[in-house]
Amino acid sequence: MSRFVQLAFDFLAGAGREAPPPAPTVPLSPVTPAPAAEPLNQVVQPGTWQHPQANRLIRLHDCDVAYAFKRGKRRTIGLSVSPEGLTVSAPRWTPVGEVEALLRDKADWVMGKLHQARTRAQELARAKVIWADGVCFDFLGAPARLVLDPAHARATAGGTLEAAGADGVAVLRLGLPHGAAHARIQDAAQAWLMRQAQGNFTQRLDHFAPLLAVRYTRLRLSSAGTRWGSASVDGSIRLNWRLIHLRQDLIDYVVVHELSHLRHMDHSPQFWAVVASVLPDHAERRLALRRAAVPLGT
Ligand SMILES: [Zn+2]
Repeated sequence: MSRFVQLAFDFLAGAGREAPPPAPTVPLSPVTPAPAAEPLNQVVQPGTWQHPQANRLIRLHDCDVAYAFKRGKRRTIGLSVSPEGLTVSAPRWTPVGEVEALLRDKADWVMGKLHQARTRAQELARAKVIWADGVCFDFLGAPARLVLDPAHARATAGGTLEAAGADGVAVLRLGLPHGAAHARIQDAAQAWLMRQAQGNFTQRLDHFAPLLAVRYTRLRLSSAGTRWGSASVDGSIRLNWRLIHLRQDLIDYVVVHELSHLRHMDHSPQFWAVVASVLPDHAERRLALRRAAVPLGT
């Protein structure tokens, strides 16, 4: 089995990835090998829905859907929609006509998921933080305000978080001049957030790993725009540092989710049983996570 298969990705939008109802999978009758390879690199017209790795085009509900089509050792046709678009995986010898018939049959599901993914991407775009003096952002699910303070000691590792006052808003004090350039403020704010993320995630991984009877080898922070995290068979865990904007119970859900992949590299019932063993309310947390708008830096 390819090592790629042993890598579990979890997407921000998660559409069709781990939530019921699962992506439709249709068992195929035994197929006879096709006499000639089918053209997979046909020219793709600009479509309404365009996967970055699109190599096929189909018209569904009066929309052009350019999708990534892959063949491999599998017995069923699999459909998945990620924020990037539609991916179709088929057994090596399935005729393309059969794949397209399935897509037309599942057109409602496919178009629904594509619309969901696009709406989600728009929500995330609106949640962008423009880093500037006085800007408000979420830290561990609570409001905080950025204050530039030229007098702030450099010895405090770039910034200090002061607990919320009467207005319920914490203050992140960064040692930068008031007229600092936007990019410099963003660098300093994100560097501070990433340090908090590293410390917080490490502590939570160390807490949950023994409870799940797994061992992780290392944590890497990611900043992928579309993924919460991933786990690989070598025991390394990647977590999106932007999770630090969210409540601790949502961060914990992602930590437990990825650690549980070290037991099961899929989203099978066995996998969810492992998650539930330490987080019985994982379904509620997953839902809340999906609704959370994550502030994305510019
Ligand atoms: Zn997962």
